Amino acid sequence: MAFPATRLRRLRRTAELRNLVAETRLTPDAFVYPLFVCPGEGVRKEVRSMPGVFNLSVDEAVKEAREVHSLGVASLILFGLPDGKDEVATGAWAQDGIVQQATRAIKREIPGLVLMGDVCLCEYMSHGHCGIVKASHAPQSLGAAARDAITAVAVRDGDEREKAIEKLAGIASRASEASYEIVNDASLELLARTSVSLAKAGIDIIAPSDMMDGRVGAIRHALDEAGYTHTPILSYAAKFASGFYGPFREAADSAPQFGDRRSYQMDGANIREAMREIEEDIEEGADMIMVKPAMPYLDVIAAARERFDLALAAYQVSGEYAMIEAAARNGWIERERVMMESLLSIRRAGASIILTYYAKDAARILS
Ligand SMILES: [Zn+2]
Repeated sequence: MAFPATRLRRLRRTAELRNLVAETRLTPDAFVYPLFVCPGEGVRKEVRSMPGVFNLSVDEAVKEAREVHSLGVASLILFGLPDGKDEVATGAWAQDGIVQQATRAIKREIPGLVLMGDVCLCEYMSHGHCGIVKASHAPQSLGAAARDAITAVAVRDGDEREKAIEKLAGIASRASEASYEIVNDASLELLARTSVSLAKAGIDIIAPSDMMDGRVGAIRHALDEAGYTHTPILSYAAKFASGFYGPFREAADSAPQFGDRRSYQMDGANIREAMREIEEDIEEGADMIMVKPAMPYLDVIAAARERFDLALAAYQVSGEYAMIEAAARNGWIERERVMMESLLSIRRAGASIILTYYAKDAARILS
């Protein structure tokens, strides 16, 4: 039946009617709140690029966890800022690592709160990459090309000089790409060791975010061997190399000291490859899967929902949060409205679990 018999506006007339026919609903028990734990006592340091988000010492993290729990938020995901960093990420898997300490303290006080442990090495590595780094050498031809370009910069002027400088910059970036490698298989052992250590501390869900091939299988095997057969794995299965992670790197002090993460995180152009990544992780034993970031990849969330039957999570990342906060602070958008709309869109795309810095604020609105 068409207009005028059909009038879709009939069900939009009042808030009550709109509510009744809402297809998508948000509830706090679908939210996971990220927490950044740092050494010290009484520390509550705001992240510059993420107003309202803090680095918290263990005692403060416990307070925060209590508040999160009282708001009905289901879960916390913990990230750590260790005392020191090295080349084997000791702080990630040490028994007294910062996340392990926080886990024990929070579990003691609020046993009902589900704790997720992010498993990655970047926050604990001196170089800031998510795996073990092996140096390799730049090809000789690059050295010769660089020498020529440097000479040209020195002796030419004007346009010619500009061109030589540009060429030199190109050579430098190719050289830095060629001069190191993030080693896959050797990194798996550290990731597995980290996962067991977190499970031992009381983490309920192990969430690997490193994007090394084969990590889910390696972690499952290690957990089972250590007796943690009941500990589920939430795999950051389709994690894209993204500019939206910028503020997180400040929050977790995890920016790579050289190069970038494009050799392990996914290319934003690829949705079919994202399905393969997810499939692979399911095959290796993932119990839940995640797409990250959320807003720029809603189509990937929707495709994953369509294709796989596992619990599906999405991470509304630091840059998504920072954009909304910055615009709201400028008075350019309505903060609460955009916050709820962004969360609703992630839910509508198909994610049943949302990791978000808005967990507390959104829970307050929904209660
Ligand atoms: Zn990482």
